[in-house]
Amino acid sequence: MSGLGYARAPSLAGAVEALGRHAGAEIVAGGTDLLQRLEEEVLPPELLIDITGLDGLRAIEVGESEVRLGALVRLNEVIDYEALRAAFPAIVEALAVTASPQVRNLATVGGNPLQKTRCLYFRDRTTPCNRREPGTGCSALQGRNRINAILGGSEHCIATHPSDFAVAMTALDAKAVLASTRGERSLAFADLHRLPGDTPQHEYNLRRGEIIKGYIIPRAVLARQSHYLKVRDRGEFEWAISSAAVALELDMAGTIVRARVAVGGVATKPWRLPQVEFALRGRPAEPAVFASAASLATEGAVAHGDNAYKLRLLPRTVARALNELRERL
Ligand SMILES: Cc1cc2nc3c(=O)[nH]c(=O)nc-3n(C[C@H](O)[C@H](O)[C@H](O)COP(=O)(O)OP(=O)(O)OC[C@H]3O[C@@H](n4cnc5c(N)ncnc54)[C@H](O)[C@@H]3O)c2cc1C
Repeated sequence: MSGLGYARAPSLAGAVEALGRHAGAEIVAGGTDLLQRLEEEVLPPELLIDITGLDGLRAIEVGESEVRLGALVRLNEVIDYEALRAAFPAIVEALAVTASPQVRNLATVGGNPLQKTRCLYFRDRTTPCNRREPGTGCSALQGRNRINAILGGSEHCIATHPSDFAVAMTALDAKAVLASTRGERSLAFADLHRLPGDTPQHEYNLRRGEIIKGYIIPRAVLARQSHYLKVRDRGEFEWAISSAAVALELDMAGTIVRARVAVGGVATKPWRLPQVEFALRGRPAEPAVFASAASLATEGAVAHGDNAYKLRLLPRTVARALNELRERL
């Protein structure tokens, strides 16, 4: 950690200016992932830009048609906010099964989707990893890949994206608001993360010097009728090996009018399943329909040995999430 610089951002303008000026700079928010990386010396930044004093990024604004979340809102603040629980159950449920109460008290919604993968080889800097050190190879392809991705991988990287919150935000058509010295722009949450392709080191569609200022989440019947299911190796304090955020809107006869399905723990980025959504639309909301639509979840999936079990687990996760949601409607 020698030579690490630290600067407390006096304002949002000051933060984006410093971030754009220093190639080796990184924002620190809750610090729960970044400080672990510093300890492990995995891609340590040269300069930390601390944005925790920017109170303007702490707001939760509940409007008629949308909710705005500032980047510095803590995970537990979302969970405890009654109106959000009612408007977006999938998001609140995803956060409630994230990490531990202690981590959720510190971690922010801005930092959560940008946490780094839990791939064993990315975190172990004694092994080759294209994401950490481009051109060195992907150790997971032939190595211990039980937790790795079956969707969205490439011959250069099969690291899974780790955030639960990001899966729910992808399902519910959220947008990220990004700020830089050039002003602000919004980006569909589903486009925030990149596929690894042959440049797995480039994980996000953030431009140089851009930070997440917050999010806009549309309020809709669909979002109110949503659910998040997480499957993990132990009941607490563990990332997903498979997860699903689902949302359904039904007509009076119980026919599915709209559906949203995104999955986590199985893909290199939060993964929307349009083919499953299409198969649900116009069909009765019942277990056989859910099972048949969920069987399409692994279209295009590729297993790599230890993670082949996810080919069976993923459709079951999606079908179970839909059944659990149906019970509530
Ligand atoms: C033991 C443990 C278990 C965990 N289990 C889970 C789990 O089950 N599910 C899950 O989803 N997560 C889990 N996590 C991860 C945890 O949720 C994340 O570490 C946390 O949400 C990151 O938020 P933060 O504010 O602490 O980010 P930081 O650590 O401060 O930052 C993370 C990254 O985001 C960048 N960043 C932060 N804010 C911004 C911003 N506004 N704009 C641009 N860049 C920004 C930083 O530069 C850094 O690269 C776990 C963590 C631990 C330690």
